[in-house]
Amino acid sequence: MAQDEFTFEAEVGKVLDIVIHSLYSNKEIFLRELVSNAADACDKLRYLALTEPGLMEAGSEFNIQLSTNKRDRTVTVADNGIGMNRDELIENLGTIARSGTTAFLESLSGDEKKDSALIGQFGVGFYASFSVAKKVEVLSRKAGEDKAWLWTSEGAGSFTLAEAEREGQGTSVIVHLAKGESEFLEEARIRNIIATYSDHVSIPIMIATKEGENQLNTGSAIWTRARGDITEEQYKEFYHHVGHAFDDPWLTLHNRAEGKIEYTNLLYIPSSKPFDMMNPDRKHRVKLYVKRVFITDDCEELMPAYLRFVRGIVDSEDLPLNVSREMLQHNAVVRRISTALVRRIFSELKKKAEKAPEEYAAFWADFGAVVKEGLYEDADNRERLLEIARFRSTNSDDLISLADYAARMKEGQEEIFFITGADIDQMRVSPQLEGFQSRGLEVLLLDDPVDEFWLPTVGLFEEKPFRSVTAGGIDFSKIKTDGDAGKDEDKDGPEKADAADVAKLILAFKEALGDAVRDVQTSDRLTDSAVCLISGDGDMDFHLERMLKRHGQITAPAAARVLEINPAHALIKKLTAMSGDLTKKDQISETAHLLLDQAYIAEGEPLGDAAGFAQRLSAALERGL
Ligand code: ADP
Ligand code: MG
Repeated sequence: MAQDEFTFEAEVGKVLDIVIHSLYSNKEIFLRELVSNAADACDKLRYLALTEPGLMEAGSEFNIQLSTNKRDRTVTVADNGIGMNRDELIENLGTIARSGTTAFLESLSGDEKKDSALIGQFGVGFYASFSVAKKVEVLSRKAGEDKAWLWTSEGAGSFTLAEAEREGQGTSVIVHLAKGESEFLEEARIRNIIATYSDHVSIPIMIATKEGENQLNTGSAIWTRARGDITEEQYKEFYHHVGHAFDDPWLTLHNRAEGKIEYTNLLYIPSSKPFDMMNPDRKHRVKLYVKRVFITDDCEELMPAYLRFVRGIVDSEDLPLNVSREMLQHNAVVRRISTALVRRIFSELKKKAEKAPEEYAAFWADFGAVVKEGLYEDADNRERLLEIARFRSTNSDDLISLADYAARMKEGQEEIFFITGADIDQMRVSPQLEGFQSRGLEVLLLDDPVDEFWLPTVGLFEEKPFRSVTAGGIDFSKIKTDGDAGKDEDKDGPEKADAADVAKLILAFKEALGDAVRDVQTSDRLTDSAVCLISGDGDMDFHLERMLKRHGQITAPAAARVLEINPAHALIKKLTAMSGDLTKKDQISETAHLLLDQAYIAEGEPLGDAAGFAQRLSAALERGL
């Protein structure tokens, strides 16, 4: 019969190469992957058949059949699920659509040992069969279609497709074992592998032996069993299957809700970042079942986008089995389940945060940035979210909560101070922080881009407004600080410059800088630095502005900033002393420009006139030498 030859997509070729050449240990997982795919295929058909009963063949129960043939040295995994037609075989087995695999390829090191460990971590699904095979055949007939197709590959760069015959719909994967892999022909070995990895599969897994058919798995959906009857291993294997994940779950939430709405949830929070978490589609990965029947993994309202790292299933007793996608939109039952699940997740997180702060900190490091999206997307849960949110701050190396912050606020301090930026270390040395540090005022260090978005929306925590340290108009005089550190410093240091002279200097600066600044004013937030920039009252915070610019959200030129000068700084004092001397006017003007540029550099911002800066700097250095 006619046979067409195809080359694998380059990425698939790479994966296969690694699987074949460096997957030394744990080869047995190939069986888990094939069974998992077979189970998915049955679930898909079961759902489609709810609305198109004709798709199911008369008298057939879903099952997965395992068989071995010692003479041909083959292991076969056959299912009567949805099947694949010619195009789907090419698409699903010849290209890589899965984001996890792409991430896998990106993290390859070229070192065989390391890379083979990575496979265990990522999983390569169907391709795992090539770790034991010299040839793999996939014989498939799609439900509702007449033609069957045979896909064949030896894993070396290409596969072939030919028309074929298959009794009944579904897929058979025939693995021709390579030399040295005979163990997988032994029934006992297969039983053991299924018991280890696939017991949770809700479709019966049968093995054909001389004595007849034998079921290898328990065969009931794992979430219908009592918690006490499920081992940690079984929970973990189900997580791997349902989440297409390969790490260990950090949290497992298995509950049955009875009462007004009835459902069971078996949800997992991963212990490491899933690779699709930052996908722009922001889709969650929780599967919806109705009375044990898989319905969809695409019910948007089941889980908010900011919890998209959660994996698992929800099985509802209240939705009708023939629920359509349209019916699921704005569905009251779905919404109530979702609300309850989100609460449950929050309360579990809160418990962890209190009882196991270190574990929680690791969770927060991976997922905090995503969870914080909820602060502006989910107004109903804002308080709960603020409670479990954790932050870095100037007072501590550990993550802190807002409650921790509030408890340490100084007498008279009414605001929660924060600074945003891209880099914690850089933020810690920001000139704007100096005055806060010297007064012992704690400042939150916020380094996630999402912080710029929730802060303006949330505005308050327990009625205390959030306030950027780079904003204008902060009044320190009302705050009672540690022995009034700010003032002490003035006493220890040399005397402050005369106020009238400072005013003169400010005028000179304003004249020199013109439109380049919005204003020039004395600062009480500086101790060590001569100058810093702040936003004008009512202007957008300039970190936010910079971020929006970087993402092309705004294109207007940046608003001019306010330049604050530190009258206690030696340089400013010298300038102040010169400010009455008309012959020094040019020098003051040049220094004003230099200081403004320096303030921009401290912010990590590009200079408007870098050449002018270089000239002025050389001139000043020359004079100094
Ligand atoms: P994943 O299961 O994570 O999607 P795999 O590499 O295991 O990745 O499988 C790739 C795709 O091939 C599946 O998503 C599915 O569309 C298809 N597939 C694999 N095995 C079967 C099968 N037995 N029946 C139907 N489709 C299958
Ligand atoms: Mg798979």
